[in-house]
Amino acid sequence: MVKIGSGAKRALKDVILSRYAFRSTYNPCPVSTNKTISRLDPTVKSWISFGERFYGEERMDTVDAKTRSRMMSGIRNKNTKPELTLRRYLHAKGFRYRLHVKTLPGQPDLVLPKYNLCIFVHGCFWHQHSRCPYATIPKSNTEFWLKKFAININRDEKTIALLLDRGWRVFTIWECGLRKADEVILGWLPKTIKGQERILTWPEY
Ligand SMILES: [Zn+2]
Repeated sequence: MVKIGSGAKRALKDVILSRYAFRSTYNPCPVSTNKTISRLDPTVKSWISFGERFYGEERMDTVDAKTRSRMMSGIRNKNTKPELTLRRYLHAKGFRYRLHVKTLPGQPDLVLPKYNLCIFVHGCFWHQHSRCPYATIPKSNTEFWLKKFAININRDEKTIALLLDRGWRVFTIWECGLRKADEVILGWLPKTIKGQERILTWPEY
């Protein structure tokens, strides 16, 4: 049986159920084979059957091999295109930041000391952005992926808690929001950085 911690279970439940609720071509069904399901944690199994009962048929995995390998190569990459988009925008707006600060939990991608703020730029696939069309669960090796995602989700939760404990504000900016980001789309950010919000995730679906 696959053992998953309770914090990750909660997060995974959201991931699995949203896979069914948010129906788009990017969302394959998380179920691979009955054999895989039978070896999953019973709670996870029950969410999957819940999803199937409510949202119907098994879906085809629509992400092809090339896209998959591109997504996989994106894990924990620094200086990704979305990250550079954000950095360029903030720099142009006069914000100054430090990059990938090793002395802080989770090595935040951007740290703005003046505003007591850590910013993470997360890949939607690897960190399983809730209800996001890019947060697919691969149809093959599903068990392996669920475990991997659970570990990532758990780690992200802990990192945020640690930073908040130390008095930092923490923003999580997801890659899907930065894909077509421009002045208008990011217009909310400067004011929010200067504001009081302690924890924020954007965009939300
Ligand atoms: Zn996303």
